[in-house]
Amino acid sequence: MTVVPGPEARPPADRSGGWVATDKGAHLRGRRTRNTAPEMTLRRAVHALGLRYRLGRTLVNRSRPDMVFPGPRVAVFVDGCFWHGCPQHGPSRFRGPNAERWATKIAGNKQRDQRVEAELTAAGWRVVRVWECEVRKAVTEAARRVARTVRGEPAPVDPSGSRTE
Ligand SMILES: [Zn+2]
Repeated sequence: MTVVPGPEARPPADRSGGWVATDKGAHLRGRRTRNTAPEMTLRRAVHALGLRYRLGRTLVNRSRPDMVFPGPRVAVFVDGCFWHGCPQHGPSRFRGPNAERWATKIAGNKQRDQRVEAELTAAGWRVVRVWECEVRKAVTEAARRVARTVRGEPAPVDPSGSRTE
């Protein structure tokens, strides 16, 4: 489960005396946990639209998308807002003694995300990234976005969502 720290919140590792507690292993392995609540929620919504996906597939550069559609070659990632630097809930909102270090770390995560996405695209995959907060606020919209990509349909003319479908 991803913690979204507010102004008063501390990062999980801060409790044991500071940054040191976030060891390298946790940094490399721990930031993308499997089967988080947002992932499960999106899967259910995607499934409800009649799509069938594969889980636990490892693609290029050891990337493991949360859902994979091998036929149309679509890979879906559900990104935790904090770890992947969501514009609304990313580290820029974090205030605290380690703010700069968190920002650096999450900038690294974002770079890795971009690299993986570029490699997947080069290998013929289409990548859909869904923010954790999108899942929480509008999971059906997020699932429709996945469905459009899988089915090769164009994006709606008005993506602002002001129009009701
Ligand atoms: Zn967010």
